[in-house]
Amino acid sequence: MAAKAHGMQWKFPERDFYPRPEKYVDMSDIDKVQPVDPLEDPTWSVSVRAARIMKEKVGDEVAVLGCIESPNMIASEVVGMETLLMGCLTDPDAVSKLLDAVTQSSIRYGEVVNEIGVDGIFIEGSTAGGEMMDPSMFQQFDGQYLVRVIDSCRANGLSTLLHNCSEKPLWREHLGTGPTAIHLQLSSVGMPEVAAEVKGKTCFIAGIEHRELLLNHTPDEVKAEVKNALDAWGQDPGLIIGPGCELPYKVPVENIKALKESVELYGKRQ
Ligand SMILES: [Zn+2]
Repeated sequence: MAAKAHGMQWKFPERDFYPRPEKYVDMSDIDKVQPVDPLEDPTWSVSVRAARIMKEKVGDEVAVLGCIESPNMIASEVVGMETLLMGCLTDPDAVSKLLDAVTQSSIRYGEVVNEIGVDGIFIEGSTAGGEMMDPSMFQQFDGQYLVRVIDSCRANGLSTLLHNCSEKPLWREHLGTGPTAIHLQLSSVGMPEVAAEVKGKTCFIAGIEHRELLLNHTPDEVKAEVKNALDAWGQDPGLIIGPGCELPYKVPVENIKALKESVELYGKRQ
């Protein structure tokens, strides 16, 4: 929705799946991309209005979160990921201009959902992975813009949950952007190493592997993996258990229940 608000066009070729890109913004038009107020965009504003309704109807029972992608990921969907990565090398000034516009829109999105009273904002930051960029490229084209969004949220008292499900997550760099919580899939990181560096600074959302374990394995195997994660973290506060990323549609309900029940079973702390 954010990419569409900045000029990308989409289409819906499948009935039950996300829209696909119809046409990206051409690199030669990148300097025409302007910051957007989510409330004034016909599509993006739908999610804001939905959050308001959810907050009113079920906000006392469950956490209602805003959700946005990092500026780098939005930009990659405005011009296309390959084009953006090439642009970082061939036309860094134009890319920086696009990232700046998208960052301003993202900061505004944080303000808008904060006014609704959401309980936090989930930020999808999975372009920050070694398979896409190295730490210096992250700093130049990703991290410095992400920091502006996170800083703005923090200044408004809004919690940030930074998600990174890349295969080689630049999680130390992400930790440095100062989110309230960092969300990684356990299959991509060493839990003891992450726990040692994250504890006491940032909450950790331990992502139980979703593409194989949750999708194809048994409830007992899911419970064992949750127990492993809880044991590896120990008694300290600051741990949340979740799936590694969005659940595939066909994950058995029994495995989703096992994920929840095993936290209740093994997650009690003195
Ligand atoms: Zn993900």
